[in-house]
Formats: sequence, C-alpha cells, structure tokens
Amino acid sequence: SERARERGIAYYTPSIDSYSASRLTMVSALQKALVNNELALHLQPKLDLRTSRISGVEALIRWPAREQPVPADEIITLAEQTGLIKPLTRWVLEQSLELRSRLLDSGHLLDLSVNISPNNLREPDFPIFVKRLMGAHLQHRGAIIFEVTETSMMQDPVNALKALNSLAYEGIPVSIDDFGSGYSSLSYIKQLPASEIKIDRSLITDLATREEDRVIVQTTINMCHSLGYQVVAEGVEDEATADLLKGMGCDMIQGYFLSRPLPLEQMLAWLSKRRE
Ligand code: C2E
Ligand code: CA
Ligand code: CA
Ligand code: CA
Repeated sequence: SERARERGIAYYTPSIDSYSASRLTMVSALQKALVNNELALHLQPKLDLRTSRISGVEALIRWPAREQPVPADEIITLAEQTGLIKPLTRWVLEQSLELRSRLLDSGHLLDLSVNISPNNLREPDFPIFVKRLMGAHLQHRGAIIFEVTETSMMQDPVNALKALNSLAYEGIPVSIDDFGSGYSSLSYIKQLPASEIKIDRSLITDLATREEDRVIVQTTINMCHSLGYQVVAEGVEDEATADLLKGMGCDMIQGYFLSRPLPLEQMLAWLSKRRE
C-alpha cells in the first residue's frame, strides 16, 4: 500500500473500513430492534404555566437494549440515511397512541407530542397512513401533536406545506420545534398550519444570565402570541428560568427542571405523585 500511495492510487484506510462496517452492523441491529419491538418511547412532561398543570408529554425515542447507549438524534439520523425512518415513524405513531391510552387508563388525559422527520413529510402516502391510523382511533383525534423542525420545513417547503396542510385538515395539531435555532423565515412560518411554537433550548439555557437572550425570547413570545401561536420553552433546567418565562407570558415549559424523559411506568408514578 506504500507503493500504491506513491502511485497515487486511492485506497481505503482500515479506520474507514471498520467505521463503515460498524455502521452497517448498527443499521441491521436497528432494523432488528424495530422488528423485535426493542425500541422504546420515553415521556417528558410539558407544564402549562398559567394553570400549573401538566398539559401533555413528548415522546422521545430510546434504544434500551444496547449496552452502549445510542443518542436519539443518532438513531434518527441513521434511520433517515437508510430509509428506516418510514417504518420507524410508523412504529412511533402506533406506539404513541398506545401510550396515550395507557395514560388515559390511569386517569391522565394528556396531549402526546411526537417528532416527525422531514423525510416523512416527503412520503407521498404519509398523510394517508396518518389518516387511517387516526381513523382507527377516532377518540384520539386532536390529541396527538406533530412536532416538525423549522429547518426541516425549509428543505422542501412546497411538499412539506402540502403534507402539513393535509394533516391539519385531519385535525392534527402541528408544532414548530427548535424555533430560533436555524434561519427563520417568518413570512414562511406564518403560512404553516401550526398552533404551537417551541423555542429552542439554545435560547433558554442562559436566559437568567444573558440580557440578549431575554430580549430575543420576549420578542419571540410577543410575536408568536400576536400571530396566534401557543409558545413552549424547551430545555428549562431551573426554577429561576421557569419564573422568568412565566413573567414573560410564555404558555408552557419543558425541561429537566420538571423531569427528564421517563419510561411510561415511571412517568405514571411521577404524574400521580405530582397530583398528591
Ligand atoms: P427535540 O425534539 O428537540 O427533543 C428535546 C431534546 O432535549 C431531547 O433529547 C430531550 O431529552 C432533551 N432535553 C429535554 N429537556 C432538557 C433539558 O432541560 N436540558 C437538556 N440539556 N436537554 C433536555 P433526546 O431525547 O436525546 O432527543 C434528541 C432529538 O432526537 C430530539 O430533539 C428530536 O429531534 C430527535 N428525536 C427523538 N425522538 C424522536 C422520534 O421519535 N422521531 C424523530 N423523528 N425524532 C426524534
Ligand atoms: Ca421535539
Ligand atoms: Ca426541540
Ligand atoms: Ca432538537
């Protein structure tokens, strides 16, 4: 290979080989995990600041069986790169409906937010799948909120808007996730059939110490309210930040200050403890 290099012949280094081999292993492991129902959704509560009540939970994907934990955004990136995102999101949606009825069985009528990949919005049969799934669960209509990221909407605005409009037509609320993390085109966002905006954690983390962030967040809240959106702040980690947001008129908060994402059983325990 020394000579090959001298002659300028391209070859793969062992590290690249093992990287792609381990990536392939991971892809087939993920596929197996999906088929064998080894993935899980953990739930993180969302607090309504006005009523001091938990209004909903967000479902976040986990892969518990791995000895080496794989972060959720890595699972999703891997799935998006390999076409697994289609069956994965379908599993997430079916599982979410199941979790929501389990919550209901325990007396908790809560909204359930699910994260949708931009790839899903490009599947021509996605709205049909959703319609069929929700149709079989008519009582759930309006209770599952679809979260889509601001940046994902920019990749293919025409089809994304088409898909979101048909979801909205079915009565499914849409939330704009990670708002303020990318380049925002407000004139575009105004056209979206969304009812909720989630302010990105990057603007919330230093809220208590950074005057600039407070100005941006306050302006965002006012603007979103004028446009008729509910506003959620994500990544709230302490009471000082929660109090600030309440004072700013923010509608809802999510974050470690309340709870980390938890498996269903632990979330049920957390919810009933809060009620006492
Ligand atoms: P996201 O939708 O913005 O979710 C919020 C992330 O912030 C979650 O990370 C959550 O665990 C974390 N988080 C919540 N509160 C706090 C806090 O107070 N402080 C800090 N530092 N972090 C907090 P997670 O679960 O690792 O998910 C990462 C991303 O992966 C999500 O970001 C979402 O984009 C994606 N994702 C997760 N589950 C799914 C899924 O089922 N489908 C799709 N398409 N994407 C998913
Ligand atoms: Ca989200
Ligand atoms: Ca987010
Ligand atoms: Ca995010």
